[in-house]
Amino acid sequence: MAEGIVVERAGQKLTVLVPEEGKTYRGIPLGKVRKKEKIFAGDRVEGRVVDNSTFAIERVLERKNLLIRPPIANVDRVVIVSTLKNPPFNNFLLDNLLVVYDHIGLEQVIVFNKVDLLEGEEKEELKRWKDIYSNAGYRVIETSTQTKEGIRELKETLTEGTTIFAGSSGVGKSSLISEITGVDLKTGEISKKSERGKHTTREVRLIPFERGFIGDAPGFSRVEALNFMDKEEVRLHFPEFLKYSCKFTDCLHLEEEGCQVREAVIRGEIPCVRYKSYLKMIKEFVPWLAEVPACKEE
Ligand code: GDP
Ligand code: ZN
Repeated sequence: MAEGIVVERAGQKLTVLVPEEGKTYRGIPLGKVRKKEKIFAGDRVEGRVVDNSTFAIERVLERKNLLIRPPIANVDRVVIVSTLKNPPFNNFLLDNLLVVYDHIGLEQVIVFNKVDLLEGEEKEELKRWKDIYSNAGYRVIETSTQTKEGIRELKETLTEGTTIFAGSSGVGKSSLISEITGVDLKTGEISKKSERGKHTTREVRLIPFERGFIGDAPGFSRVEALNFMDKEEVRLHFPEFLKYSCKFTDCLHLEEEGCQVREAVIRGEIPCVRYKSYLKMIKEFVPWLAEVPACKEE
C-alpha cells in the first residue's frame, strides 16, 4: 500500500503525488471509492502504483476540512491579500474574511501587497493599519512583487502545510503565488475565471512549495460573516475582544451592563475601526459610540 496526495483535479482527472518517490501519477479511484465519495485536490489517499503512470486509489483518508472555494481538502492556512492602493483598502472586507476563515479554522496571514506604490502619507496610513492588526494578534506582512520586499518573510511562513490565497480581485494573489513558487499562473486569468462563479469542471492544482503546497485557485474575494455563522459567534473571531471578561459571558458587547469591551473601546484600547466592523457585521447600532471622541472622525 502506498500513500499519495491528490495534487490536481481537473474535471474527473486526478493527479496523485507519491511523496516517497517524488513522482506523480494519474489517479484512478477503484470501484468502491468511486461510488462512495468524490475526491478533491488535497485529499490524502492510499492505494497501489499499478504501472509507470497509474495510481489505483483504494481509500481516501479522513479529511481535516474541505473548502468549497477553491475546492481543496486539508487546507491549513489562508493568506488574505489586501492593498492600500490599486485597489483601495476596504477594512470591512478584510475583517469579514478574517472572521469567516477563523470560523473555518484556518491559520491566517494578512498581506498588504503593492507597497511599492505608496508614498508619504500613504505609508503612514499603512503603518496605522498594520499596527491595528498586529496588535490584535495577527501576522501581518508587507509585500511587493515589484521590489520583492517581504517576499522572503512570506515564503518563510508557508514552508509547511497547505496554503490558499484569498482577497479581492486585482490585489496581486496570482502574482504573489507565481513569485513564491516560480510557477507562472498567467496573472489575472485565474481570478477572473472563478469570479464569475462557474462551478462546473474547475481545475484546482496544488503547487509543491518546500514541505507543503500552495493552491493555485483563489479563496473568497468577499464574504458576509452572517452567511457562515450566528450573530452570537462573530464576537469570538475578534481576537482583541477575547482578553476582556464582561459581566455576562454571553455579552454581545453592545449596551450590556458591565461590558468590558465597550470600556476598552472608550479608553481607546480597542480600535474604533475594528469595533465598527463588528457592529456592521452583526447589523447593530449603539448610540454611545457617537460620544467616544476617538471614534468621531472618519
Ligand atoms: P489577483 O487578481 O489578486 O490574482 O491579482 P494579479 O496577480 O492578477 O495582479 C493584478 C495586477 O496587479 C497585475 O497587473 C499585477 O501585475 C499587479 N501587481 C501585482 N503585485 C504587484 C505589486 O506588488 N506592485 C505593483 N505595483 N503591482 C502589482
Ligand atoms: Zn461585552
